[in-house]
Amino acid sequence: MRLLVTGAAGFIGSNYVCGLLSGALTAPPDIRVTVLDKLTYAGNLANLDPVTGDPRLTFVEGDIADDDLLARLVPGHDAIVNFAAESHVDRSIAGSQDFVHANVVGTHALLQAALDARVERFVQVSTDEVYGSIAEGSWSEDSPVRPNSPYAATKAAADMLACAFARTHGLNVSITRCGNNYGPRQYPEKLIPLFITHLLEGRPVPLYGDGGNIRHWIHVEDHCRAVQLVLHKGEPGAVYNVGGGRELTNMSIAGQLIEACGSPADSIRHVPDRPGHDYRYSLDGGKLRDLGFTPRIGFEEGLAATVRWYRENRSWWEPLKDIATKVAENRP
Ligand code: NAD
Repeated sequence: MRLLVTGAAGFIGSNYVCGLLSGALTAPPDIRVTVLDKLTYAGNLANLDPVTGDPRLTFVEGDIADDDLLARLVPGHDAIVNFAAESHVDRSIAGSQDFVHANVVGTHALLQAALDARVERFVQVSTDEVYGSIAEGSWSEDSPVRPNSPYAATKAAADMLACAFARTHGLNVSITRCGNNYGPRQYPEKLIPLFITHLLEGRPVPLYGDGGNIRHWIHVEDHCRAVQLVLHKGEPGAVYNVGGGRELTNMSIAGQLIEACGSPADSIRHVPDRPGHDYRYSLDGGKLRDLGFTPRIGFEEGLAATVRWYRENRSWWEPLKDIATKVAENRP
């Protein structure tokens, strides 16, 4: 099986490709993987170090919105998993042009290239943020899409395009919508690695508003298992929520990380809330559970392992930390 994985120099995609080639994820024995990644600020070739040199892996630097490149690269692949995206909400509030380019134009180009090359299978990796915010209850896959941030709006647009390619052209594409991921190799601008690296540097963590916002957290390896299941068992045109994670307030995460890092109890600095900040995300994961998915990594265990990874891999995050901190400090 020849699989094209986009955005795999980033956080989730690199965990997915390393899982595929190390055998941690169930994959066909003849698996070969092409990674296509633009190497934006969030892309880091070092993320693929565990599998560099594997003869089954080919890396191509390039943009998923580059039609000419896709016309050369996509034919011959059996399936595509699209992780490539601009992924940070705060950056999308500061300016959303790159988000429209990567998430909308790029996904459209990839869908069209898959259709032209008669690629048999496509998984579009999306997010629970497309649903907006929910005060009570949980979203099913039939819940309306009501994105609030520019990031979520571009991901929702990509989902709509994927559904349209399934219905109009019969492309065999499924969509996954997952909650917040955490784990090793996540860029230190995102909440959990931002907080861990601040605490390891002896600094207080910047917490939006009163810290009451609730997110649905899942370990990246569980998300990768869900994507792999949908790749092989998902229905054409279907959406799958990746549920089964843990719902926690940002304040609770901050408290757990302060304890795990052995930092002083007053290591929280409240900062003005993010504009349009979604209050709560909550996913009903029943549909994917019926397909056989249950997360394996408990939150406390996963968080402890993640703190350990950042403690032991300072050389990975220290060069990224200045830019990530500037983004965090200048959050609108
Ligand atoms: P990331 O920002 O860590 O990585 C994104 C990768 O995509 C980078 O390697 C970057 O270089 C690459 N990229 C960006 N634009 C590109 C383009 N135009 N062409 C080719 N490559 C490009 O993101 P992540 O956290 O690993 O997220 C991966 C996917 O999962 C995204 O689609 C995101 O929307 C989705 N998702 C993320 C989360 C989360 O909590 N991180 C949750 C649910 C869904």
